[in-house]
Amino acid sequence: MARLVLKFGGTSVADMERIRNVALRVKREADAGHEVAVIVSAMAGVTNQLVAWVTEACRLHDAREYDTVVSSGEQVTAGLLALALQNLGVNARSWLGWQIAVNTDGVHGKARILDIETGTLVERLKQGQVAVVAGFQGLGPDNRITTLGRGGSDTSAVALAAALNADRCDIFTDVDGVYTCDPRIVAKARKLDKITYEEMLEMASLGAKVLQTRSVELAMKYRVRTQVLSSFEDKPGTLVVDEEEIVEKEIVSGIAYNRDEAKITLTHVPDRPGVAAAIFGPLADAAINVDMIVQNVSAEGHTDITFTVAKADLDRAVSALKGRQAQLGYKQLAPDPNVVKVSVIGVGMRSHAGVAQLMFKTLAEKGINIQVISTSEIKVSVLIADEYTELALRALHTAYGLDAA
Ligand code: ASP
Ligand code: MG
Repeated sequence: MARLVLKFGGTSVADMERIRNVALRVKREADAGHEVAVIVSAMAGVTNQLVAWVTEACRLHDAREYDTVVSSGEQVTAGLLALALQNLGVNARSWLGWQIAVNTDGVHGKARILDIETGTLVERLKQGQVAVVAGFQGLGPDNRITTLGRGGSDTSAVALAAALNADRCDIFTDVDGVYTCDPRIVAKARKLDKITYEEMLEMASLGAKVLQTRSVELAMKYRVRTQVLSSFEDKPGTLVVDEEEIVEKEIVSGIAYNRDEAKITLTHVPDRPGVAAAIFGPLADAAINVDMIVQNVSAEGHTDITFTVAKADLDRAVSALKGRQAQLGYKQLAPDPNVVKVSVIGVGMRSHAGVAQLMFKTLAEKGINIQVISTSEIKVSVLIADEYTELALRALHTAYGLDAA
């Protein structure tokens, strides 16, 4: 007998028929004698609609009321799934975030879970009752409903699995696992049986949209065995696990891409101590995150600096820097939103040389210019022109031996 947390995303509970299917899936686990807690998202599209209504009601809205509204989608699905389970003769009840309670900090709209009071839940699980828990929501220190940021029900599931000391956390979704690359672009992409927490974290934060990044951080921190699998097909998905569990490590396990960044180049910047601080200080003050940075070797006391920010922050970044042109002393400011960040990821890189070199060579052979490079222990990222996304991904996928047979 195991203790399981099963999470069903929006497309898995998009209508009553699908909710009934989910109920059948849950019943199977309960009938097998497992203790089952289920986390549900809102029905597909519902949260978007709720967000749109809030924005329509008031552009600069009170974040506490935003949470009151957008958390409601999950309340509906939790109740409906509990009813569908009861219809099948399964002992089940719904739980809202505040009833458990899932305690969070007070950052409305993007709250973090602090702890989950599992006492009553565990008692009920032991009595054989299935807990259907509304994902995405918690209880803030102000005694009001909070939400965990878009895609947050993944985080609800992993956090609950950690708090319950569950044997596994299954994330049911509309894809059947984690792929070596986006299969919509690379037809030869393969589904991975296993991937390490570290790799999954890079994949999620570098643009693969399978799991909310925060949920992977939690899974890694609390060593929650997490599986990503399809709610429409009955077959194993991808297990996110500890490195030790993976016997045959690939040097590169996956290739991610992200179109959400934009590039800014400042030319002819006086090269003197403090200039980087002077450029990035105002951006930090405006809460604009800078990701990749490159500074050219200076010639005659001047240098070029290129960096990336989120596309959504591009206009604000440009205006913050334009306002300081005299002070910073640069000649030109060139913004470029038409870029993509492509990353190769793999824990095997730690012990293998030549991974970055293969990336550079492959792109060079395709005539693709690399604009910025950044690396970490388990990834190499390059910034290239957006129009080469498909070409670059396919060529790299082949070069690293990832193509399906
Ligand atoms: N319903 C929420 C959203 O759409 C949470 C989730 O689905 O994970 O962002
Ligand atoms: Mg999701």
